[in-house]
Amino acid sequence: MVTGGRVPVSPAPGVAARRQHLRVDGPRLLARIERLRAVGATPAGGVSRLAFTPDDTRGRELVASYLRAAGMGVEVDPAGNLIGRRLGARPDRPWLVLGSHLDTVPDGGPLDGAYGVLAAVEVAHVLAEHGVEMGFPVAVIGFMNEEGAFGTPGMWGSHAFAGQFDRTWLSGVDSRGEPVRDLLRAAGGDPGRVPRAAWPDGSVGAYLELHIEQGPVLETEGYPIGVVTAITGRVTIDVTVRGQANHAGTTPIALRRDALVAAAQFVLAVRDIAGEDGIVRVATVGCCTVEPDAWNVVPGLVRLRADLRDVAEESLDAAVEALRRVAEKIGAETGTVVELAPSQVVQPMACDGRLRRLISAASDALGLPYHHLPSGAGHDAQIVGRLAPMAMIFVPSQGGRSHVATESTAPEDIVAGANVLLHTVLGYDPEVMRGHQ
Ligand SMILES: [Zn+2]
Repeated sequence: MVTGGRVPVSPAPGVAARRQHLRVDGPRLLARIERLRAVGATPAGGVSRLAFTPDDTRGRELVASYLRAAGMGVEVDPAGNLIGRRLGARPDRPWLVLGSHLDTVPDGGPLDGAYGVLAAVEVAHVLAEHGVEMGFPVAVIGFMNEEGAFGTPGMWGSHAFAGQFDRTWLSGVDSRGEPVRDLLRAAGGDPGRVPRAAWPDGSVGAYLELHIEQGPVLETEGYPIGVVTAITGRVTIDVTVRGQANHAGTTPIALRRDALVAAAQFVLAVRDIAGEDGIVRVATVGCCTVEPDAWNVVPGLVRLRADLRDVAEESLDAAVEALRRVAEKIGAETGTVVELAPSQVVQPMACDGRLRRLISAASDALGLPYHHLPSGAGHDAQIVGRLAPMAMIFVPSQGGRSHVATESTAPEDIVAGANVLLHTVLGYDPEVMRGHQ
């Protein structure tokens, strides 16, 4: 519980001046990113460190050694999260938690997730090296299975951390037929005690996650730092278009009930609800199956899936409603039935205004221009945000590329982002978080 007031949290003026000049050890951070990249390196130049694989475990062991080098106590919680703790002088206060994930997609890049964890370790290391005493405990977390390896639920570790873990996730097998419980046990977790990975309400004062942008905005606009406004939410809609299969030569156009013609109109409608003049930020139809899928038969059935993303839940709801109306109209005009089944709703999550101001102030103090932007990708922060105020810092992705072997960020941007994280931590005061956002 917060019992502040007796011990001043703000450092004395001389200490504050010394702290202003603190910087992360850039070469050490860059060298560690390269060493971790070598764990699970693929012939194509990428990294495959899927959760629950021996490479993931080896990567986590490497990072555990870095946490110990930073003077932290290290543990793996029952959900498989790797946690380093630095209690400091006020272990009674809510924790400041820094983190991201260490797993990758197949043939992914070296920075997605790993950068945020290694930079957080670097921040803790610098604080320890310089004997900086914070007025609150600090944890660094490498969250388990953010990417959803082998068909398992993604953001697994952050769900457990936030007390949002669904126990049915443990009961099945993965896409290879391996029992999920066994995988977790092999990764150092404890399937029977996963609920204990949840941190109690009030125990986390704030959560900060540093991450590559994974998109082109910062590079295009020329900013080294992004202050994330909110993490996008997502709705996927399974669409079934039922028409009538028939002979492509003998069926007159006016009498056809062509499911693919109707589906094509629906795809255009999905595009039209997105963008600057639309209802949601982005919308995509990325998959489609046609039956009977023969060149000389009028298509009778089409299935597709639409993916809508926005930082406002109301916008997502409004877009789904708009598409329902469009579907009815298309059905009436084409003699088909267009059925919509929304699924996989992920709520958007706003970043905390007080933490965003701290990040902006840290960037200003370091002379780094910053840009406010939403996150188009999902992150552990989105789930942790259900437990505690959270914010994210982005650095540019070269060419906007991510989840591929060529994922990269300029070394100076990697170091700049870590310094912004360091100075956000140095500027953090649990008392600030007691006020209104
Ligand atoms: Zn990530």
